[in-house]
Amino acid sequence: MRFSQYFLPTLKEDPGDSDIISHSLSIRAGLIRKIASGLYAFLPAGYRVLKKIENIVREEMNNAGAQEILMPVIQPAEIWQQSNRWDEYGSDMFKLADRNERDFCLGPTHEEMITTLTAADIYSYKDLPVNLYQIQVKFRDEIRPRYGLMRAREFIMKDAYSFAASEEQLDKDYEAMYAAYSRIIERIGLKYKVVEADTGLIGGKSSHEFVILAQNGEETIAYCDKCGYAANTDNAKFRLKTIFGESNGADKENKNLEEVYTPDVKTIEELSNYLQEPPQKIIKTIVIKNMEGSVFAFLLSGDRTLNISKAEKYLGAKLEFINEEDNVHKLPIGFVGPAGLKKEIKIYADYSIHGKSNLISGANKINYHYKNVNIERDFDVNGWGNFTYPVPGDLCEDCNMELNYDKGIEVGHIFKLGTKYSEKLNGKFLDGDGKLKPYIMGCYGIGITRMLAAAIEQSHDEKGIIWPKSIAPFTVSIISTNMNEEKLKNAAERTYEMLMKNKVEVIYDDRDISAGIKFKDSDLTGVPVKLIFGKKFLKDEIIDIEYRNKAEKIEIKLNDLENFLKKLTSLNE
Ligand code: ATP
Ligand code: MG
Repeated sequence: MRFSQYFLPTLKEDPGDSDIISHSLSIRAGLIRKIASGLYAFLPAGYRVLKKIENIVREEMNNAGAQEILMPVIQPAEIWQQSNRWDEYGSDMFKLADRNERDFCLGPTHEEMITTLTAADIYSYKDLPVNLYQIQVKFRDEIRPRYGLMRAREFIMKDAYSFAASEEQLDKDYEAMYAAYSRIIERIGLKYKVVEADTGLIGGKSSHEFVILAQNGEETIAYCDKCGYAANTDNAKFRLKTIFGESNGADKENKNLEEVYTPDVKTIEELSNYLQEPPQKIIKTIVIKNMEGSVFAFLLSGDRTLNISKAEKYLGAKLEFINEEDNVHKLPIGFVGPAGLKKEIKIYADYSIHGKSNLISGANKINYHYKNVNIERDFDVNGWGNFTYPVPGDLCEDCNMELNYDKGIEVGHIFKLGTKYSEKLNGKFLDGDGKLKPYIMGCYGIGITRMLAAAIEQSHDEKGIIWPKSIAPFTVSIISTNMNEEKLKNAAERTYEMLMKNKVEVIYDDRDISAGIKFKDSDLTGVPVKLIFGKKFLKDEIIDIEYRNKAEKIEIKLNDLENFLKKLTSLNE
């Protein structure tokens, strides 16, 4: 490709509304352009990267025995009503009606459609197992589209669905997808972790997320170096760092309850500063309500955060924080505490306050807190549990080693679905024993467009993108430092043609502009290898070779170029 003729509009500056480095670089490097919030167009270089990711995914899915199909983007409402998700999915779903007022949606995912599709043609256990996948756009009206391609409203996903006659077969399908996802990310060349994930409202037996490690990632992973356990912190099992009893902050004797004036001191941080006590000495009281309006108080050590999904699982109900309007008990928000709390509000305590004594908490009165609050003496606990996220110092439940933490971006998610959809959408087969049974499903998603963004997020420097060679838009960029110098121009032209003939993916910067801009653009766009025709070539026919991902530079003579080319061809593999 000749730069002068290629639609590669690079930008020196960030256009202004990028909120993360990969977003900014994908705009500046001429990969994508924003059309509207969460909607992006791919320009030629970006589309090349996308196709490469897609091909790696496709090859690995085919190798794992999955078969490619293509389903419509527009989906009829009926199948979503049958699974109850027409309403459940909520406002994330883009809905539309046709000219006859029939309801449809733009597919946010395809469980309903694939189950309907297969239900019509799978009759017997002999038709199973089967695994079908597609690579296609998905639509989700995300509450907060952000980070460019990372959380878009239209994005490309590879989604696969497996159908099995037995649980054992589902386990095999799941393992095959687990292995394929690992190979995909390894072939692309990114650092990642596989973590146990929450099966959430979908339910199901097992779920793993594939997370690309990156400092700006939305996911926090807790992992153990000793046994290899890794999980999303939302879902991580852990043991509290403190041991119950005295070392958890218990004094020898319980002191008298004392009310202290704490004007306008509402947050744990403010209170800790005001009273000069560590947050671990403070009870954080979170008031929360269920959908029927019953109010509960969850107590945690002041240094911890409530994991609402753990609280929901514990109470078996959906919960919501209380705001000023629905504060039926007129609780003094910021000054609520367990001692003297209205009896109808049940109290649940996290183990992080277990065994502590003489604590600090709200006094249920504006501008006042209590000192020397003691469990049992000053309030009763209706139930104990683990309601928080792990914090540094907490231990692996299996081997008691301190957990470590990493940040990352979820690019893939695999699920054992079971029979949830096959039951509701009539996906049945006749088993060997003559009985009609719902088939057992798995679903497996990987974000193609998010992978592109995640690769940039993990692999860049202050000059721009550093593409892993597997998905770089071009392997080589040829730079002639002066287009008015015939000798340089001719050699660059000849090399360009030679590379093209050998099917090396090359971008030849033939623009009549300063060498400095050419270098900057090559670095920004992340091309792995630069072939430079400059002063050394004029003098001694020496070509400078620079690698984007390492400081190393080498020189080769024109005569050795052919040999070097062979190496580059293998770079394309
Ligand atoms: P998240 O928790 O990030 O919202 P999700 O759990 O909704 O993701 P899935 O429904 O499991 O995601 O979709 C599978 C994959 O699709 C994700 O792992 C991700 O790579 C990609 N994906 C999901 N939502 C988006 C989005 N809004 N923009 C780009 N890619 C997305
Ligand atoms: Mg989501």
